[in-house]
Amino acid sequence: MVINYTEEIVKNCLTGLLKNDPAYKEICKCEQCIDDITAKALNNLKPNYITTKKGEVYAEYSSLEFQHQAEVIAEVIKAIEFISKHPSH
Ligand SMILES: [Zn+2]
Repeated sequence: MVINYTEEIVKNCLTGLLKNDPAYKEICKCEQCIDDITAKALNNLKPNYITTKKGEVYAEYSSLEFQHQAEVIAEVIKAIEFISKHPSH
């Protein structure tokens, strides 16, 4: 299967930020807003397609994840702030 690894990192970052950051306690976290935030962040990041078997651990990509993390977090935060102010519902 082919996955966009950037998308995996975005989803992980987003889940972590919404769960742990008190700044985002009050914002809407419905499926629509989560999807909008994910899409917006991904549009500003370069996709990184990898092939993987279902359930495989992405160990070999962890160093890459580390490099990308700061960039991804910055885009996810921008997307959260935009969508929470302009929800599409
Ligand atoms: Zn919502």
